[in-house]
Amino acid sequence: MPRDQAGRASAGKGIPSGQMTYFLSLGSNLGDRKRNVDRARRSIERSGIKILRASSVYRTEPVDVRDQPWFLNQVLKVRTGLKPQELLDLAKSIEKKMGRVPAANKDPRTIDIDILLAEDTVIDTPRLTIPHPRLAMRNFVLVPLREIAPKTVHPLLRVTIRDLARRSGDRSFVIKHQQALSRSRAGSKAAEG
Ligand code: ADP
Ligand code: MG
Repeated sequence: MPRDQAGRASAGKGIPSGQMTYFLSLGSNLGDRKRNVDRARRSIERSGIKILRASSVYRTEPVDVRDQPWFLNQVLKVRTGLKPQELLDLAKSIEKKMGRVPAANKDPRTIDIDILLAEDTVIDTPRLTIPHPRLAMRNFVLVPLREIAPKTVHPLLRVTIRDLARRSGDRSFVIKHQQALSRSRAGSKAAEG
């Protein structure tokens, strides 16, 4: 497919020129986490970005950090005319609007919005790296991403998301939020967090 300088698909195959498909990750482990994820998704939609698919919301164990509340995570497939840098600006402005304090990198956050993939585009700048560099080693991204895009191929690793999830060495716990809610109503310890 022909591409312009930003790596966006240009005309052809019935795809409107200048539009790009992205996968975004939403995460929250501070405050009303479900409300935060829902609000972020609505803000994205209100800014004119088309949400093509949304994964289930997952309850996930914090990776890299100890003694933190569990996260709620969701992955979105979206379509927009925004360039990657513009989409990052938008993500940061939504994070700011939702009261994310620019504290130390790994502190609990009301909302974290990351760009995971932008079709076959590869970007490596200090401000923006696509594909997201930690995508392949994080169950909290791979499991929701696999739910909505198992056959999508990682443009650098050249393997499908399904295979990345299968090969992931990350042993952290990821469970659908709804499932965790019903288990906790039944009194199961596994639903904690
Ligand atoms: P993290 O998401 O890694 O837990 P932050 O949300 O604080 O941490 O992000 C730190 C910086 O990472 C952001 O200021 C942003 O400029 C940069 N960044 C680089 N690549 C990406 C990407 N693909 N998506 C989102 N942010 C990114
Ligand atoms: Mg982030």
